[in-house]
Amino acid sequence: MKALRNIEGLEEAVKAISLEVTGTIIHQKNGKTSLITRQKPLISLDRTRLAIALLEKLTQKYDDSRLKVHFDCECTQVDFAKKQAKLQNPETKVDFTVDYNLLVGADGARSVVRESFLSTENFECQQKYVPSAYKSIFLPSDNNLERNLQPGKIHSWRLDDTTSVLLLYQLDGTMSGVVTFPYKQNQVASLSHAQEVLKFFNENFPEVGYLMPTSEAEAFVARTVSRVSTIRCNRFHQGASALLIGDAAHAVSPALGQGCNAALEDVVIFDKILDENSDNLAQAVEQFSVRRLPDAHALVEMSDYAFPLSKRLFIEFILRQRIAKILHRLFPQKFLPSLFEVISEDTNSYSQVLDYYKDWIAKVKKSNEKLTVRA
Ligand SMILES: Cc1cc2nc3c(=O)[nH]c(=O)nc-3n(C[C@H](O)[C@H](O)[C@H](O)COP(=O)(O)OP(=O)(O)OC[C@H]3O[C@@H](n4cnc5c(N)ncnc54)[C@H](O)[C@@H]3O)c2cc1C
Repeated sequence: MKALRNIEGLEEAVKAISLEVTGTIIHQKNGKTSLITRQKPLISLDRTRLAIALLEKLTQKYDDSRLKVHFDCECTQVDFAKKQAKLQNPETKVDFTVDYNLLVGADGARSVVRESFLSTENFECQQKYVPSAYKSIFLPSDNNLERNLQPGKIHSWRLDDTTSVLLLYQLDGTMSGVVTFPYKQNQVASLSHAQEVLKFFNENFPEVGYLMPTSEAEAFVARTVSRVSTIRCNRFHQGASALLIGDAAHAVSPALGQGCNAALEDVVIFDKILDENSDNLAQAVEQFSVRRLPDAHALVEMSDYAFPLSKRLFIEFILRQRIAKILHRLFPQKFLPSLFEVISEDTNSYSQVLDYYKDWIAKVKKSNEKLTVRA
């Protein structure tokens, strides 16, 4: 929200399409639930709606004399020496070239701009798949209160083999989310008929199974299995006029729910650096790499290893969350709240947060790596 506040009217526009989330309800197979509340609510909204709100503000603010939007055109190649990006119109398949003074590659985890960085000297980028895969779920609106599916909460379920469901309400009262599962065992991906899907959810996630109509079970079968990869680069700029931001620069696992925040924070930081350097692009893009790399790497590390795969450590994780909350309430000067609360505060850099919780992250990393090698 801090980033949006910098553009007049944008915070209000985004709030109007958002929901507040005040905690997480953990559901057990036997119907029992436990609630982990948050000190400060999270903002939840649909990614496409956010993109539309940003685009609307942009086109309202600048007229055709200053702004040209090549909507839905795909960047296929970048020539850094000529300062040109090649785009393709998806309907006509016609290629065209645009000149740039500054190229900001905000084209997501599979960034073509980043791919073009690979042909430049000394650029290194590590891409790593997270061990789990996921499929999306969409459920109709219903009176869900009797099943403890209160609005304003993240609803989560987890099986011993780490297969998990996360669901959130949308503005229209429907719910959507993901089922994540170990990629190698692929039990969810192998469900090939609607009846198998319904049986699987009814047995393992009864509240989800109850709400799932046959049409959604059929759509679930047809939906592809997706994977998330994390990205670590050794710089985010190329020469004096190209920059990577957001997932293109530092894609992370969604475990901590920070990908979007980090992308927006990139913009705030680059804006600040431009001001500090009197809009000198060459200095600003280089400074962005210098300042942002430690935080980006810290975020990748925390997103990979905040959540344990082992059942024993997962119980410890839940207990730690509860204890941290109580201790912080009693002795706020001495004890920090949980990692999830602290990371959502924009007063702490990701490097600082990693420093506060480094022992837990190291413990989970050791355990997760052992389990991943064994699987
Ligand atoms: C299952 C899942 C759950 C998530 N949950 C959360 C969450 O709870 N909270 C959170 O903060 N983050 C979450 N994330 C991460 C979040 O979605 C991303 O971190 C965030 O969207 C990054 O924004 P971005 O603008 O960098 O990239 P994107 O949102 O990926 O946007 C990239 C844009 O570039 C366009 N594009 C791509 N290639 C090209 C090309 N060649 N030419 C032109 N345009 C191109 C795309 O169409 C898209 O519009 C989740 C991600 C996943 C996969």
